[in-house]
Amino acid sequence: MINVNANAGCVFNCAEDEIETTSEPINDEIEGRYFEDQPDVTDDYQIHVIYSLYANSKDNKGDVNGDWEEWIEIADKYILNATKKSSRSNVGQKFKWDFRKDGKLDVSFLRFPITEKEMNKCEYSCGNLFGRTIIKAGFNNPKKIYLNFGDFKYKDWPYSGGYPIFNIFTTNTSARLRPKDFGYFALHEGIHAMGGIFKCSPNHFEGHNTRKTSDLMSREGDGRNHSLDPNNDDYYDHKMERCPDIKDSVFLTPTSSNPYSPFEVLCLPKEKWEVTNKKLEGDPERCFYSRNDVNVDWKDSIGIFKD
Ligand SMILES: [Zn+2]
Repeated sequence: MINVNANAGCVFNCAEDEIETTSEPINDEIEGRYFEDQPDVTDDYQIHVIYSLYANSKDNKGDVNGDWEEWIEIADKYILNATKKSSRSNVGQKFKWDFRKDGKLDVSFLRFPITEKEMNKCEYSCGNLFGRTIIKAGFNNPKKIYLNFGDFKYKDWPYSGGYPIFNIFTTNTSARLRPKDFGYFALHEGIHAMGGIFKCSPNHFEGHNTRKTSDLMSREGDGRNHSLDPNNDDYYDHKMERCPDIKDSVFLTPTSSNPYSPFEVLCLPKEKWEVTNKKLEGDPERCFYSRNDVNVDWKDSIGIFKD
């Protein structure tokens, strides 16, 4: 969550005013577009991007026109810089994005079965509709987290309900997404998608770190909260043996020698952990895949915590 009074100053992929909608017949099948996760080049944990539209959003083709290379560059730079500053060993980290065999970022396309108008009228658990639709569309690999990049106007700020999904929109409330804010959004919401902030963090506050400070993970942001656990005593590069450290997330590279997988920590009993350091405390109440309204074909066979 962040409260930035942004003046629209976008650099690329900008719509004129609000996101335009269309009443023309929709044909989403265009060249270079993928509706499914493409074959992986690695078996490693990855962050998969989904370019999404509302049922009647105009298609700006942001998934195929090269915009994504620019967004990724912005995010990589910001995340590398923020993590390096907070690292005890002066080593920055990056997100492990999902790439295709041809070396391009693997972006999938998804249209939600709801219009902007309908979403604006929705009152309860609305954002959850994004997550459930994404999971149902087949994006539910336990070794992936998903960035829902909505190329439309969302009534609120970027957000994440935690592992395995985070959401960023090209228009948030009424402000166009600015490249200069994208890195912050990606890192803050991405950390939520990696399970942070864990309750064992000393300054844990409603899934965040502190209520309102200059910390990047504070509950209320003002656009100036860019320091990532500067004293290394809450969630990044700390020394608390039993509390998952974001630096050790399997979704960050270079990968820690002492990693944790959010899926294991949140969804599996400790005897089933394969990559996660067993000294850590699990947090079984926050497994998204346990929910009754979330159905995936591997749910019973893998033995996750039940609701
Ligand atoms: Zn947040």
